[in-house]
Amino acid sequence: MTLLSLDSVTARHGLMTAVHDISLTLAPGEVLALIGANGAGKTTLLRTLAGAHPLASGRIALNGRDIGALPAHARLRAGIALSPEGRRLFPEMTLRENLRIPAENGRKGAWTLPRVLDAFPQLAPLIDLPAGGFSGGQRQAAAIARALLANPDVLLLDEVSLGLSPAAVEGVYASLAGVRAEGRMAMIVVEQDLTRALAFADRVICLAEGRVELTGRPAELTREAITRAYFGLHETETADV
Ligand code: ATP
Repeated sequence: MTLLSLDSVTARHGLMTAVHDISLTLAPGEVLALIGANGAGKTTLLRTLAGAHPLASGRIALNGRDIGALPAHARLRAGIALSPEGRRLFPEMTLRENLRIPAENGRKGAWTLPRVLDAFPQLAPLIDLPAGGFSGGQRQAAAIARALLANPDVLLLDEVSLGLSPAAVEGVYASLAGVRAEGRMAMIVVEQDLTRALAFADRVICLAEGRVELTGRPAELTREAITRAYFGLHETETADV
C-alpha cells in the first residue's frame, strides 16, 4: 500500500534546479532517511513536499490525492507536517503557545498535548517558558512535537541531529522511536549522521545534486557505496528496494 508517492518531482531556486525528477513511494509506517552532502537538495525536497516551496513539475500524491498544488496549511490538513531545519519557533511565545498553532490548524487525532509531552518528557518542564531561551535539543524536540500535534500521516523531519549534543540526539531519537512504535505514521528524516540514519531507517535514499544517487535498505548498502553516492560518484551496484 502506498501512502505518499512522488512522480518526477522537480523544484527550482530561480534558474537553478535543486531537485531533479525524483520519484519514490512511502508506505504507512515506513521510515525513510534522506542523506546527502550539503546542497544536495534534501531541504528543498522536504519543503516542496510540505508546500513551503513551489513544485516546478511532477506529481505529489498523498493517499491517492494529488496535493502538489495545495498551499502548506492545506497539506497540513491533508496529513503532511514538516519539522523544519532551524526549528523555527516563536521565541517570545511560550512552548504551550507555540504548540497551540498546529494543534488548532492541523488534524485532530491521537497526538494531543498530554500524549506529546509523554513522548517528549524533556518538554514538560518547559511548557510555560518562552521558547527563545531553549537549548538546541529542546528546540528540536519542540519543533517535532509541534509537527506531531497536527496528527500527520507523513512526518517530515529536517536535520534531526544537526547542532545537538550527543545527549540531546539520544533524547530526540528515543522519543522518535516511541512515535514510530505507535505504528502508522510514516517519516522522512534528513539526517547528517550516517550511522544514526542507517540504524533508524527502513530505507535510505542518498541525493547528490538533486538526484537520487543510491537507494536501498540499510542492510543492503555498504559504507563504500554510500560514500561514493554522497559525493555523486556514480554507483553501478544500486541495491533493489
Ligand atoms: P544542506 O544540508 O546544506 O541544507 P540540502 O541537501 O538540504 O543541504 P538544499 O538546502 O535543498 O540542500 O539546497 C539545494 C540547492 O539549492 C543548493 O545548491 C543550494 O545552494 C540551493 N538553495 C537552497 N536554498 C536556496 C535559496 N533560498 N535560494 C537559492 N538557492 C538555494
